Amino acid sequence: MNLVLMGLPGAGKGTQAEKIVEAYGIPHISTGDMFRAAMKDETELGLQAKSFMDKGELVPDEVTIGIVRERLGQKDCEDGFLLDGFPRTVAQAEALEQILADLNKKMDYVINIQVDQSILMERLTGRRICKSCGATYHLVFNPPAKSGVCDRCGGELYQRADDTPETVQNRLDVNAKQTQPLLDFYSEKGYLKNINGQQHIDQVFVNVDQLLKGLK
Ligand code: AMP
Repeated sequence: MNLVLMGLPGAGKGTQAEKIVEAYGIPHISTGDMFRAAMKDETELGLQAKSFMDKGELVPDEVTIGIVRERLGQKDCEDGFLLDGFPRTVAQAEALEQILADLNKKMDYVINIQVDQSILMERLTGRRICKSCGATYHLVFNPPAKSGVCDRCGGELYQRADDTPETVQNRLDVNAKQTQPLLDFYSEKGYLKNINGQQHIDQVFVNVDQLLKGLK
């Protein structure tokens, strides 16, 4: 089960990714998470990524493609994987085709979660994340029981540096411009499956699950 999950920032990729990974037991490969972990550990990769991420810009393709190539070659990806946040450019999508061919794998689906841009702005600026366990909340749509505290582990909640209004607008602009060619690329290849993301989280997953059951 080799999958890519797509959607503009805030479309619910992370939430659906958690559900897919739990239901199907494949690794969740988020390039954003990998960069954030590298930044936290202050590795060379983290230092390279930081200046771009803080501005809401994409990390250069050669850096990003390199970490995905290495990750997909690891043993836990043998029976499948879920890519989240990659590819973001056609160059990355083309590189991914080559990486999969080199590993004797093929893409199954590119799942695109569709949500209107006006709704995304509200969703993103209200997002809060737990410092300790990474659980995500929303001030309006999914608030924690106690303000600023994680329900799951009691950790402190924070707002990602790239979830502030100016950076969100920049991310949406950058993404909207770059996403369309990618959707066209995957549509032509026949991998693209559109899912309506403007429904309850559980209903979005029901639709995703219906699609993936066909692969088992
Ligand atoms: P995300 O968590 O997917 O929203 O990613 C957060 C940030 O990480 C992005 O704004 C980029 O700066 C960087 N990033 C994540 N994935 C990629 C990618 N595929 N290509 C380039 N930059 C990326």
